Amino acid sequence: MSFTTPYFTLPKFVYFKPKNIEEALGMLKQHKGRAKVMAGGIMLVNLMKERQIFPEYVIDLKNIDELKKINVTENGIEIGSMVTAIELQNSKLIKEKCPALAKAASFMGDRTLQHTVTIGGNISVGMPSTDGLPALMSMDSVLEVRSSEGKRFLPSSELVLGIGRTSLKEDEIITKIIVPNDEKVMGTYLKFINASEVAIATVAVTVHHEKKKLALSVGAIAPRPYYFDNSSLQWNWEGSVAENIKRASDVVYKAVQPMSDAVASAEYRKEMSKILTARALKEVFGGA
Ligand SMILES: Cc1cc2nc3c(=O)[nH]c(=O)nc-3n(C[C@H](O)[C@H](O)[C@H](O)COP(=O)(O)OP(=O)(O)OC[C@H]3O[C@@H](n4cnc5c(N)ncnc54)[C@H](O)[C@@H]3O)c2cc1C
Repeated sequence: MSFTTPYFTLPKFVYFKPKNIEEALGMLKQHKGRAKVMAGGIMLVNLMKERQIFPEYVIDLKNIDELKKINVTENGIEIGSMVTAIELQNSKLIKEKCPALAKAASFMGDRTLQHTVTIGGNISVGMPSTDGLPALMSMDSVLEVRSSEGKRFLPSSELVLGIGRTSLKEDEIITKIIVPNDEKVMGTYLKFINASEVAIATVAVTVHHEKKKLALSVGAIAPRPYYFDNSSLQWNWEGSVAENIKRASDVVYKAVQPMSDAVASAEYRKEMSKILTARALKEVFGGA
């Protein structure tokens, strides 16, 4: 998407505004393959204006209150797919328990857009540079995906298959994101941009010191974010933090195979992945 579409008009479509999830899923089933759900609508409307997609039916999820809630349940922290970027940043619970996500949400377009952008829409777009998915992957989150046939749980790392492609079926929607409700979570999200609004590299880190658990995701460098955990990063909890950070950033440098495009070369992205990894880990583990 160019963000500067030459078209001011939308192709014709039928607009629905269901009141609950069941109604929305029924509509998706009835018009399977010819309908698209609309969350914030920012990307969807742009793609329609650019004539890149032509849904005959648009199913607006904005009236479905159930999708707008953040709850703590026995499953963990449940974030409705229609929660906005601003709500994620302002939520005390998200800031405390999902710091990487709260910070990533502050990068999802400008402050005005963030009132409209939803976490479900952000991750469903399948664009490498979107900020939500690396953060969700670093938190080992799971997506609740529903269709009129039932529900399934999808690890967030398995959502995006390639640029603009997800593993969602045409009649499925993401209803919730479920994050483990751990104590004493630390995390951050760093984004590197240079002379363009498109990110060159991003890094999300989530750490549970007591559980000795560390997960890191590198985004924007390839069609899908990369995921690393304690063992792939060769993290030694008894060793020096400085040595661990050096080793982990070397692991990331060697593992990633970034793409080259108009924004940055593969080699530049590789370097930035290493640098951001070291900075993010220093921020979380302190000084080093
Ligand atoms: C100028 C500009 C700058 C931007 N900069 C950034 C940036 O820096 N970082 C960033 O992360 N993003 C950025 N974005 C993208 C913005 O965050 C996207 O619009 C957003 O990611 C889409 O969210 P939405 O809620 O508007 O989704 P929509 O546009 O409504 O939907 C997007 C797609 O996801 C599908 N979808 C939506 N919700 C669901 C669901 N619950 N289940 C299944 N499918 C669903 C829709 O059918 C559609 O195909 C930018 C956008 C603009 C216009």
